[in-house]
Amino acid sequence: MKSYRKELWFNTTQRREFINITTDVENCIDESGIKEGFVLVNAMHITASVFINDDESGLHHDYEVWLEKLAPEKPHSQYRHNGFEDNADAHMKRQIMGREVVCAITKGQLDFGPWERIFYGEFDGKRRKRVLVKIIGE
Ligand code: ZN
Repeated sequence: MKSYRKELWFNTTQRREFINITTDVENCIDESGIKEGFVLVNAMHITASVFINDDESGLHHDYEVWLEKLAPEKPHSQYRHNGFEDNADAHMKRQIMGREVVCAITKGQLDFGPWERIFYGEFDGKRRKRVLVKIIGE
């Protein structure tokens, strides 16, 4: 069995952002040389997510609105976590959108349905953060 590890780094210009990382993950699979196996992609921070869904800007806007209803950023004082920090909402948004995805690799490619794409979800951005890509297989 072969294994492969890589970190993808991000530094978003906004506090909240969704970034399509499907091509980055595909490049990792190519680089690994693994044809049959699994790829794990996880955020290495507790205020960011990795998730799979459609690459459609309307949907991404709807996520933003929905997440703001569930865990509004402001007022910052509504959260006990916000003392030295102001990111309690980001911890909650990340919990809903998930930490990681695991995808099948078949014949050297992501074994995906037609509209599945992998996203990095940033909820407390404007600083350097990373995602782990771990691939096992042969
Ligand atoms: Zn925090």
